[in-house]
Amino acid sequence: MKTKIIDGKKLAATIRAQLKEQVEQFSRAPKLAVVLVGDNPASQIYVRHKMKSAAEVGIEVDLFHLSPVLTQDSLISFIRELNQNKTVDGIIVQLPLPSHLDAFKVLETIDPEKDVDGLCSSNLGKLFTGRPGLVPCTPLACMELIHQVCPNLEGLQAVVVGRSCLVGKPVGQLLLESQCTITQAHSHTQRLAEVCKTADILVVAAGHPHLIGREHVKPGAVIIDVGINRNADGKICGDVDFDAVQGVAGAITPVPGGVGPMTVTMLLSNVVKVYVQKNIKKKA
Ligand code: NAD
Repeated sequence: MKTKIIDGKKLAATIRAQLKEQVEQFSRAPKLAVVLVGDNPASQIYVRHKMKSAAEVGIEVDLFHLSPVLTQDSLISFIRELNQNKTVDGIIVQLPLPSHLDAFKVLETIDPEKDVDGLCSSNLGKLFTGRPGLVPCTPLACMELIHQVCPNLEGLQAVVVGRSCLVGKPVGQLLLESQCTITQAHSHTQRLAEVCKTADILVVAAGHPHLIGREHVKPGAVIIDVGINRNADGKICGDVDFDAVQGVAGAITPVPGGVGPMTVTMLLSNVVKVYVQKNIKKKA
């Protein structure tokens, strides 16, 4: 069996072109506020990438690069101001925050209607209770990629490796909503290979290079590799041993070029969604 490569870069480009066309019809550019605290080099790269992608589709970005010694109270007041600012459609706070700041409390301060990362408990609660809200970007990216090769998920067995609020839990919920039977594996799961081998759809978000090998994969399974790691040579790699699963997996996302570009695209899509909903409300 030849394993199909699910090209996240190509899909992201297609969706961004559609978003650009949609934004061109708007009466003003949607605006995303990006809050970056401190000088984490990886965060700076991620933020630059988000800003470039936003500009490509016509979304305006206000970057607020704040001092690493900012207090929790000051940061919360700052976010409250952004919540009140009618020209701002979406707000993200780049994680991780410096260790003296409580990321949970900070994310909880964002107005749920502007929470385009979908990470506050109101939006996660909506996802888990089946009500419309803003859904986290990486889980949305995983679903778009799965649908490229498997449009109907009804009755399929899905295994998600990882149970973080950022990826594992919400992607499990989205698969459940799509009528899959789901198993959520994690660091205490026993006989991981046996569990993973039941999967028609295998989503891996553990943060361990090459955790998943050929022995974990059911023939024909669709694999979504969320992991971003560096291997011994310093090269970016996923959680799945990409070469080892060739010929067994039905389809797989590469790292890089799979979930990453789609995650940023889903952020842009959430900003456009907020803009559209705001304007529907205004007209009502
Ligand atoms: P996390 O550390 O919060 O969670 C990791 C999860 O994996 C935990 O629930 C843990 O129980 C599970 N796990 C760890 N070791 C395991 C093992 N040996 N067997 C089974 N389960 C195990 O990480 P996260 O924020 O969910 O991110 C996971 C990975 O995805 C990281 O590599 C991260 O960099 C990457 N990531 C990529 C994107 C993207 O856009 N591509 C976005 C977010 C996260």
